Amino acid sequence: MALQQLHIGFDDTDSPRKGCTTYVAALLVEKLHKLGAQFTDYPNLIRLNPNVPWKTRGNGALCLRIKCDENVVGKVKEVVIDAVEENADLEYKGTDPGIVFFARVKIPKEVKTFAKNAITGVVEMKTALKILKRFKAEALGFKSGRGIIGGLAAVGETLQGDHTFEIITYRAPENYGLKRKIEEASVVEMDKTTAPHTFNNVDPETGRILITPRGPDPILFGIRGESPEVVKKAFEMVKPLEPVERWVIFRTNHGTDAHLKRVKQLSQIKPYYPVVAKGTVAANPKIIPRRHIIFSIEDESGCVDCAAYAPTGNLRKVASKLVAGDYVEVYGGIRPPSRNRPLTINLEKLRLLKLAPQMVYHNPTCPQCGKRLKSMGRSKGYRCEKCGQRFPNLSKVVVKIKRKLKRGLYITSPRSQRHLTKPLVRYGMEKRQSFSVNELMDGWHFP
Ligand code: ATP
Repeated sequence: MALQQLHIGFDDTDSPRKGCTTYVAALLVEKLHKLGAQFTDYPNLIRLNPNVPWKTRGNGALCLRIKCDENVVGKVKEVVIDAVEENADLEYKGTDPGIVFFARVKIPKEVKTFAKNAITGVVEMKTALKILKRFKAEALGFKSGRGIIGGLAAVGETLQGDHTFEIITYRAPENYGLKRKIEEASVVEMDKTTAPHTFNNVDPETGRILITPRGPDPILFGIRGESPEVVKKAFEMVKPLEPVERWVIFRTNHGTDAHLKRVKQLSQIKPYYPVVAKGTVAANPKIIPRRHIIFSIEDESGCVDCAAYAPTGNLRKVASKLVAGDYVEVYGGIRPPSRNRPLTINLEKLRLLKLAPQMVYHNPTCPQCGKRLKSMGRSKGYRCEKCGQRFPNLSKVVVKIKRKLKRGLYITSPRSQRHLTKPLVRYGMEKRQSFSVNELMDGWHFP
């Protein structure tokens, strides 16, 4: 029998009220195995640009890479289309599923570039359709078919550079929407045993368990880590207190900063394109309602606002202590300008590169008795309340105060990190080697 390689990308099946595209992938893992397909990679869960306006939650797209008998290719496609159709929330207005079948061994450069652009920016349907036509790939869209963009991007991101793994477990359907039941102490223990090779299990500032999502979707919990072995081991340590219907290990771009692209000048910043940019703090930060911090940075090309929102925890605290003149590198997604706010970088990270001297201005002290003088009004000099003397010619004294900040990298707390944000524990763990298809471990999914 002749084996054919097939990359199956799909996206946009869920809505805020129902479903999860990773669950469709998990169902397909079982169904495709039954058809005799061999997986040439773990299912890929690719997070695309977290700032696009069309996303439901985490802008995740999926790709299954298989080899199967030429004679079952038709059946495979049918099974995939049925699974998407049956599990997508098609009645929901913003759900527009798309499926891409790419029947080549190697992924062409244009498709890889398309994927990079979908992760770091905004891409257009017409570009996706042109690429599909050029490589004679098949695509199927439901409703507007917008999910074809994500499907093709998932095919194109082959995760040859840095990548991580996530084991995702799914609930029995009768429990959807109910509070998730899992023994919290077992998660804390698992974290202690497997970190830093697993990450973002527990929020260090609040102690909150982060592996369980909070919506009505079918996920019970997901554990992220550096290898399939470590996420499997971590999964075996966690005690669910409700049935687990199935689980799968995904290979992902979680925690890799793949979305952030450096701009040379602040004037190059565009709405929806996540950036890394450098600039000088233009004025001391302001606190706006709900305790968010706003400050602006500038360079020779322009000026842009940066926001550290309250849930960013430590990052917000650091941002509040910046002063005009500090030199910083900021990382984050771009919020377009709105009626009451200019274009703003929503901070994910901040690197404090140079601290400006911080000055405070005090009234002078009395040359006779040493007591701090009282001002007599603008440009009118000072008066001593103790000895009654007046000093019309004295002026304020400048005092340099010690800064409470240290240079270095500050990252939003794990509870508010984006899927793509590289957490501090991953620095130095980045994978540079390409992934080999012979490496799939035994028992990477159930059933
Ligand atoms: P979840 O993470 O819960 O699975 P989601 O947040 O992935 O959901 P989707 O329902 O997949 O959201 O919707 C995202 C839509 O935006 C998809 O149709 C996808 O094709 C499209 N899209 C994703 N990234 C881009 C991009 N960079 N440019 C243009 N369109 C995009």
